[in-house]
Amino acid sequence: MISKAAEVRIQNLSKRFGQLYAVKDVTLHIQKGDFYTFLGPSGCGKTTLLRIIAGFTTPDEGDVYFDDQRMNNIPPWERNIGMVFQSYALWPHLTVFENIAFGLKERKIPKSSLHDKVYTALKMVNLEGMENRRPSQLSGGQQQRVALARTLVIEPRLLLLDEPLSNLDAKLRIQMRNELVRLQQELGITTIYVTHDQEEALAISTQIAVMSKGEVIQQGSPKEIYEAPWNRAVAEFVGTSNFLEGTVTKIEGDYVHLESQDIGNLFVLWKTSFNEPPNIGKSLIINIRPESIQFLNVTSSDETSQLNRIKGKIINSFYLGSLIQYEIEITSDIRLRVNASNPRNLPILQRKEPVILTFSPQDAMLLHSDGDQ
Ligand code: ATP
Repeated sequence: MISKAAEVRIQNLSKRFGQLYAVKDVTLHIQKGDFYTFLGPSGCGKTTLLRIIAGFTTPDEGDVYFDDQRMNNIPPWERNIGMVFQSYALWPHLTVFENIAFGLKERKIPKSSLHDKVYTALKMVNLEGMENRRPSQLSGGQQQRVALARTLVIEPRLLLLDEPLSNLDAKLRIQMRNELVRLQQELGITTIYVTHDQEEALAISTQIAVMSKGEVIQQGSPKEIYEAPWNRAVAEFVGTSNFLEGTVTKIEGDYVHLESQDIGNLFVLWKTSFNEPPNIGKSLIINIRPESIQFLNVTSSDETSQLNRIKGKIINSFYLGSLIQYEIEITSDIRLRVNASNPRNLPILQRKEPVILTFSPQDAMLLHSDGDQ
């Protein structure tokens, strides 16, 4: 149905509202067929960036290209884009069929092919048989599907989605996001998706741009963003993190030794985080995900290595069925979160119980300071 998907290039794009940069010097390359997500907290500039791509907002600086065509002076209705918002904005007095056909009629598509196109779109979003209902007779998820069908039927070369699932309950949201991914893959349509939901972004995207205060802090695949966050802001926003501070004491090949005042000696792979080994004496932040920390047997006499051993005591435990989440006090200032998987085979550790934690040097990430390029 979709004839040709567009590649989108954004170059040094900025948009100010008064003194505030809603979008600041953003450069991105969105490949044909990507499911590309702008992820970030409320107010970071995601919607403004999307509206500039759509042509509803004019940038102060920079350029937008669809394939090789510069779009800056092209009005939204000539960009051949489809857009779906958080609010479905369906016509309440029109049937599902008429809502979907609306854009086609405006484009003066002949009646014979209009019918076929609407039915193809209905089938695509699994709404066959509902064409005579009005929006008020549909569930939220079904209304969202009509909004999607109405957008896809015009065969856009680019699909822009602004938090389209945020009005749906948790279960339906997951069902709809899976359908969205299926549809996007089937059609091969380049899709730009805006969300503040990091789990959603990880699950559906081929590429993510993490934004903060109008700037893109990091771009990459979901795996790259989660496993190698550039700095503390990304690590904090995407997934749950534990942060430890240490000073570099020695480099050993691809690994670095750090001294942490509160914890002791830490041993971490630097190679995946940095291009060059960090300088001796440099202070760094180490990020360890809760699933990368393990418990050591407290009574174990294995004293072969004192690296990456962290003593603490249990503060809280949360049994979540598929895992147990622990909060562990290391010092009065440091608490770590640890996820123990496969709880069936584990007792739940009790409050105040002493524990020793460890992590593998490959599972810790060294973070860049703010302002590092
Ligand atoms: P949310 O997730 O809450 O929708 P967002 O990341 O999409 O947020 P934007 O809507 O792009 O963020 O807004 C970025 C910043 O620009 C915010 O501080 C917002 O208040 C400001 N802003 C957006 N539109 C305008 C406008 N028309 N006039 C003035 N300020 C605006």
